[in-house]
Amino acid sequence: MALRPPARAATAAACTLIAAGGLTACHDATRAAARTPTPSGNARNRRPSGKPPKAHTPAPATMTLAPAGPLPPVISNVPVHGRLVFITIDDGWEKDPSFVGLIRREHIPLTLFLTNAAVRDDYGYFRGLQRTGALIEDHTMTHPEMRKLSYEKQRAEICGPAGIYAREYGARPTLFRAPYGATDTDTLRAARDCRMKAVIFWREVVTGGRIAYQKPGRLHPGDILLVHFKPNMTADFKRMLHTIGKQGFRPAALKKHLPARYFRR
Ligand SMILES: [Zn+2]
Repeated sequence: MALRPPARAATAAACTLIAAGGLTACHDATRAAARTPTPSGNARNRRPSGKPPKAHTPAPATMTLAPAGPLPPVISNVPVHGRLVFITIDDGWEKDPSFVGLIRREHIPLTLFLTNAAVRDDYGYFRGLQRTGALIEDHTMTHPEMRKLSYEKQRAEICGPAGIYAREYGARPTLFRAPYGATDTDTLRAARDCRMKAVIFWREVVTGGRIAYQKPGRLHPGDILLVHFKPNMTADFKRMLHTIGKQGFRPAALKKHLPARYFRR
């Protein structure tokens, strides 16, 4: 299925600059407005900023809920000094053993957004990548189009892998990426309620080692690149690294450049 880079293509996204770090944070609000939230979601959605619910809201039970906290920011590029980019790899269907060797030899920092359905036949493969320093993060149980699901189902899709990866990898994910870059407010609420600290999107999609640029012709500092675990992974990845290097960029670790609070479990 075609992937769209969400940072710019998501016309519904309202983006603001976080003052402290200049992070671009977007909340896809329009689609959410088009949805009919679940009863519990409805009540909670109506209380975004501590305002009391309207008098006619017949939901006394939900009025006792503790404040749910702010929704996680959606990030597709990172403010950096210097020519750095961030490589993220999604899903996990293909498990090329030689790829682990390449990452180990070249010391490439990676963030992996794994779909449980894709990795459950061999969690160990990704442990090999984790030992090179790769972060293991959350990309749902089954890779659905989240906007088609209720809040409860979205929450199950996000909380499920968080628990499983905590057991398998010894570290609970704190970053979430939605399949196809498609989110609504229920997705962000579910991510928050599964203790995800940020939702990470991307600027460039890399297919077969070729980078599709979102801004004309080249990489920009702080860009997040989206790669998939695919056949021919090692050769394609080398080609991408060559292109990154030719433009004077190098891969950096998200953990070193995003605020520490996004990694607090
Ligand atoms: Zn995916």
